[in-house]
Amino acid sequence: MPSFFLFNKRILCDILKMNFVCMGGNMGNYAEVLNRLKQSFGATFPFYEGNPYRVLISCILSARSRDERTYPTADRLFEKYPQPCHLAEAKLEDVQNILRHLGLWREKSKRVIDAAKVICELGYVPDTFEELTKIPGIGRKCAHIVLAYGFGKRVVAVDTHVRRISKRLGIVPLDAKDEDIEQAWLSVLGDDAKDINHYLVALGRKLCGRTPKCSECPLNDICKKQGV
Ligand code: SF4
Repeated sequence: MPSFFLFNKRILCDILKMNFVCMGGNMGNYAEVLNRLKQSFGATFPFYEGNPYRVLISCILSARSRDERTYPTADRLFEKYPQPCHLAEAKLEDVQNILRHLGLWREKSKRVIDAAKVICELGYVPDTFEELTKIPGIGRKCAHIVLAYGFGKRVVAVDTHVRRISKRLGIVPLDAKDEDIEQAWLSVLGDDAKDINHYLVALGRKLCGRTPKCSECPLNDICKKQGV
């Protein structure tokens, strides 16, 4: 490669701070990450996909709770309160009784009622980041989860698994912010960019947790193992 190109590429990297280009990676590799994860983890998708109300409430419930507890509990909640206005009018102690087996159940009970009140008053679940983050209990991650899985928008939700694995893969530097991680994945993936959240969560739970099991990982030969 001509040296002037390398020189310019380095300057470009410095300007853009796009480590996934600078570190010798390429876009093809990161598209390959999604392909391999699809093959390894199949097409099972988050519960309630396409139902923004249920995606939003279950995202609030999922904080510090395992899926095995969150989703059966969410099912019971939606059985009793199928629409936002039902939940908005619920008695706190009734909701607490349903959520009692989840971590932070007291806080979550109040949060889901407060969120349902806002949605009931609006008459719809908002489909913009700005409006969603005005709902009590909805931060950056849950807003993106709702946009991605409730509305099918092309956004990347960054949670603890996406953050950890994106850095290990080398698509971003170790000190990257969540916004950098979102942008990095959007830059290298197409219409299915939103799905990277689902697959990195699956990978994180099974193989790339606190102690990564690289020898069993489908990404072993393309992962930079940054910080591992
Ligand atoms: S190769 Fe290792 S560090 Fe990289 S994603 Fe797989 S388990 Fe994680």
